Parts: sequence; structure tokens; C-alpha cells
Amino acid sequence: GLKKYFPVGGGSFFKKDNTYVKAVDDVSFYVKQGETLGIVGESGCGKSTMGRAILQLQTPTEGEVLFEGQDISKFKPKQLRELRKDIQIIFQDPFGSLNQRMTVGAMLSEIVRVHRIVPRSEELTYVQKLLKDVGLNPEHYWRYPHEFSGGQRQRVSIARALAVQPKLIICDEAVSALDVSVQAQVLNLLQKLKRKYNLTYIFISHDLSVVKHISDRVGVMYLGKLVELSDKHGIYKEPQHPYTQALFSAIPDVSVQEKKERMMLKGDVPSPLNVPSGCRFHTRCPLATEQCKQEIPEFRETKDGHKVACHLV
Ligand code: SF4
Ligand code: MG
Repeated sequence: GLKKYFPVGGGSFFKKDNTYVKAVDDVSFYVKQGETLGIVGESGCGKSTMGRAILQLQTPTEGEVLFEGQDISKFKPKQLRELRKDIQIIFQDPFGSLNQRMTVGAMLSEIVRVHRIVPRSEELTYVQKLLKDVGLNPEHYWRYPHEFSGGQRQRVSIARALAVQPKLIICDEAVSALDVSVQAQVLNLLQKLKRKYNLTYIFISHDLSVVKHISDRVGVMYLGKLVELSDKHGIYKEPQHPYTQALFSAIPDVSVQEKKERMMLKGDVPSPLNVPSGCRFHTRCPLATEQCKQEIPEFRETKDGHKVACHLV
């Protein structure tokens, strides 16, 4: 039931006539330990806001975020600091998120020290092992971020996330800024680290092929809502929601012999400031009926864990 609304025009939540951007609007799902849940959707669908709300970098407007049974949305600042050891996030732009004035080693050592991960005497060895884990050279300890390539910098951000020995890592467009060949290397690294350290990922991306490559289950977001959620096969081979069908009919699939019929959508994504009534997708859905304009479709299970929010499914 997670919601994140932003009041528009400096208003407060207590005034009735406020307008909000409903960036995340009543989203529910779970992630099992050891799995990778992909979240896909076009830009502005609320997937990044959702990632931040899970991590409590942005306080949810409503709803619960349960981590190992505890509602972390109720955590006090001190508990949240502790939680940062368990949940980490990796962003798209590794250059912007790294301190340019510190060597990579000093930066990683500082994190290790603040969170008391290993005794001080073992810091250097620990950090150099981290660098090796992410495919860098232990000698890179003494280098500055600008001395690395884009792919290497993203490896440094992965090392930074790993430094505190987290259980869950939220990857928000983690490979989107990289060249395709480098993307594949970083994705493979993430897979390898996941197995080695028994990690769990929430992998947020607008790139359907990247999500397909890495995910076990996939959720599709449209205008702040989850419209479909299933294991990878269900989403990529048997999509049920008209939005998912349209989105996925646009990607070429070399493994499918028969020609896929391309489904075209009308118009653009509406503004999140002014979301359509009923099913939010009705302004673009080729199958929309009168009911779709009035009633919000329930997000319900159609078969074996496959969930869809559509009146016709
Ligand atoms: Fe289309 Fe109606 Fe289904 Fe929404 S509920 S996706 S408008 S058919
Ligand atoms: Mg984003």
C-alpha cells in the first residue's frame, strides 16, 4: 500500500484543495530473499521514487515497508542509520555520486570505518578485497574517480554498496549510462556478486532487455501504479495487461520465430499531475470500455503469482 505524493505549489498535506503529484500510488509487492525483482516502466512512472521510498530516502506518504518483518517506515533516525547497512542503493550516474576529492580507497575506508565493518588494522585489506570483488585492481585504492572509465566508476559504486555487507541492493538505472558492451559486463558482475554474497536486488530500469537479462520476477509500472507483476516468463512471453503487451511488442526478440504483432499506443503518457480517472491507462488503451473510465481495476492474481490490474483480464 505504498504511496508517495508530492504537494504542488508549496502547499501542505492538510489543506483539502491541494494538488499532488501522485508519484507512487498504492503499490504493493514482495521480494524474496535471493531473488532479483525487476521494475520497469517509462520515465516518470514513479519507479525511482518508489526505490527511494523503500529505502526511506523519501518518507512514504502512506503505507508500510516491511524488511525482515519490521516496518522500516516507522524507524527513528538511529534505526535508519543501522538499516543502511542492510539496504543499499546504486544510482545511474557514478560520477555525480562519487566524491571527486577523495581517492576511491579513502572513500571506501571511511564507509567501512563509520559502520564499523572490520577493525581498523584490517581496513586496507578489506577494501582491497572489495576492489578485487568488483573486478578492479587493489592498486586502484590510490586512484581518484576521474581516473576511472564510466564502467569502472560504476564498479566503484557497487563496491561502495557492498562495503557495508548489505542484504538488499536497490539498483536504480544502475547500468543505463553505460555503453552496451560495458552494461553486459556490469550486469554479469552483479549476478556473480549476488551468488557470492547471497544478495537480493530490486532492479529498476526503463530498459526492458536489461531487466529481462537480470530479473527473476518483473513488475511493470504505469503512472505511479503497478499494473502487472509476474515471473519473467509470464511478463515477457505471456503479458496480460494491455500496457505491458504494447511495451513489449516494441522490443525485437530474436528467440521468437513467429512475427509479433506490434501494438501501438495512442498519445503520450498523461501528466502525473492530472491522472486519468478509473484505469489510468484508459486514455491510451486500445481496449478501453466505459467501465475503464469509471472504476479503478483491482490488482489481482490471475494465475500462480501473476498479478494484473485490468478489468478485461
Ligand atoms: Fe485497458 Fe480497461 Fe484494462 Fe485499463 S482496465 S488496461 S483501460 S482494458
Ligand atoms: Mg528514474
